[in-house]
Amino acid sequence: MFRGGIILKTPEQIEAMAQAGRIHARCLKMIAQKARPGVTTAELDEAAERFIRSQGAVPSFKGYNGFPASICASPNSMVVHGIPGPYKLQRGDVLSIDIGVTKDGWVADGAVTVIVGGEGPPEAERLLKTTERSLHAGVAAAQPGNRLSDISHAIQRVVEGDGFFVIRSLVGHGIGQRMHEDPQVPNYGPPGRGPVLQPGTVLAIEPMTAVGTDDVYTADDGWSVYSADGSLTAHFEFTVAVTEHGPRILNPWHEL
Ligand code: MG
Repeated sequence: MFRGGIILKTPEQIEAMAQAGRIHARCLKMIAQKARPGVTTAELDEAAERFIRSQGAVPSFKGYNGFPASICASPNSMVVHGIPGPYKLQRGDVLSIDIGVTKDGWVADGAVTVIVGGEGPPEAERLLKTTERSLHAGVAAAQPGNRLSDISHAIQRVVEGDGFFVIRSLVGHGIGQRMHEDPQVPNYGPPGRGPVLQPGTVLAIEPMTAVGTDDVYTADDGWSVYSADGSLTAHFEFTVAVTEHGPRILNPWHEL
């Protein structure tokens, strides 16, 4: 069913998305654990693709608008869309890992940011904690009857309340049989705007943040997006269904 451009999902369709989400969550967790010093981002990509296909699923990113890999691996000042390659992870790298999984035609999308080797600069640890907390605040606002920008505002409050920045030009999105559906979900803005959230709305909620700027630029490869000032960045993402009982995280990687 269409409602203001948003494709509402039935409870059965949300269950199908949760199947994709379960595979997604396990994959993301596994790749986050594999992100150790000396491992290349290409090795992470191969491991993710192998796992996804072993589950009878497809890596959603591969070939999407020509993207050449199954995951995005974005270290340090790179916010999103990093192409995996020969780069060897170093202790203290702040690595964002973003993965999409399509199962039976339904897509789950999600991301985490980790500190390679477990320990990094205190500012990195704070940025990651804040950004993950802002994601949960966004999810908590995904209540039926709320408006879309209540999610945006909840994220912005947490991030800016801790003195960090929301990247303005990168947004979350509706998701379903296609990875990107209506509506866009900005990570900032006043509350109480946009469509009323109906049960059956499914959103990829994904705060993208930086230590020192709200602005980004895209590198010459046409994909990699960096913070404008070179400061550290973070990205956390869930696929979330609005249900009559409240928000439901379909790829609960935080519970694994
Ligand atoms: Mg996304």
